[in-house]
Amino acid sequence: MPDLSSLALPHIAKLHAYTPGLQPTESGWVKLNTNECPYPPSPRVAEALRREIGADGAALRLYPNPKSGPLRDAVARLHGHGLSERNVCIGNGSDDILNLLIRAFCTQDAAAGFTFPSYSLYPVLVEIQDGRAATIDFDRSMRLPVERIASSTARAFFLTSPNAPTGVAFSNAELERVLASYRGLFVVDEAYAPFANEDAIPLLARHANLVIVRTLSKAYALAGIRVGYALAQVEIIDLLDRVRDSYNVNRLSQAAATAALGDTDYHAAMIAKVKATRDRCLAEFAGKRGWFTYPSQSNFLFTEPKNARGETGPAVAKAAYDFLHARKVLVRYFPSHALTAPFLRISVGTDAEMDVLSATFDAWLKAPNAPAP
Ligand code: PMP
Repeated sequence: MPDLSSLALPHIAKLHAYTPGLQPTESGWVKLNTNECPYPPSPRVAEALRREIGADGAALRLYPNPKSGPLRDAVARLHGHGLSERNVCIGNGSDDILNLLIRAFCTQDAAAGFTFPSYSLYPVLVEIQDGRAATIDFDRSMRLPVERIASSTARAFFLTSPNAPTGVAFSNAELERVLASYRGLFVVDEAYAPFANEDAIPLLARHANLVIVRTLSKAYALAGIRVGYALAQVEIIDLLDRVRDSYNVNRLSQAAATAALGDTDYHAAMIAKVKATRDRCLAEFAGKRGWFTYPSQSNFLFTEPKNARGETGPAVAKAAYDFLHARKVLVRYFPSHALTAPFLRISVGTDAEMDVLSATFDAWLKAPNAPAP
């Protein structure tokens, strides 16, 4: 028997896979670890799925619309700003879009740039392509290093705004300062932009090298449906269409996504609810508890827990994480880097879920070594 891994391409044999947040299969968890929406999607989604399946599922015999045509059209109409369906590419989640961008634009000779911290999938996608990464580090202020990005020689630069895992958003004025001199493809990953005060879509008409990536996983409560999209110049969309699988988005996902995008009132109400809970919790962490917390424009908070002795740091964050975990409250922490290790990332849940979180933090402060009930 040959050593099977030695048959793989060398860069694949030594690849470290992306680590997604835990998805517990048993019930009873307060799940605040993967920035999903705590509310169900628009009721139109279930109706659209039932309609698509029909009485006997016969439509599922047929391949889906290869270009997700009606969905492209719905996305273009939703955003306006002169966009047409030719400016839209639909992906099997925005991860699919990010992957297409790396495959189309990045190799060893054409680096993919991104900041640290940001979405940790980017370096994995680069490794899969045996490409080269060019990383620009934030400092603790998490302010955008505009000059360094503007002068980057990366072929494509991926900026998450609002950023992950901090929740900090960058203004269009800052993005335009980058775009004034950056000549590569500038990809703004707006997974969390529906929760922010501003988005970069109005800049598309002025900057041909700008690509905006969106997802329905967070703000449309459809993480399980896997739909995301890119907005860009027609030339860029045509390139992505050459690289993507011909049927990359299944029938049910296309129907669900089109229905969700159409229910703008439901969407607006859900966003308002999540933002209100976020701002209440931010005030609690930063105000009442006195924990340093970045000003979030997303659906999660990045907070630096302080123990009862007033200490912070990686060991304190880990202790808080473990205490919560033992009581079935699931959040996320990122121990591998000094900038992120003292923090916890907490997705915004329902008000009731956030109350459980808060009571569990109170219990931790009172008796950090108490055994789990
Ligand atoms: N971009 C960022 C910044 C994210 O945090 C995520 C979700 N983990 C994604 C993209 C991927 O979202 P999707 O579910 O659409 O693949």
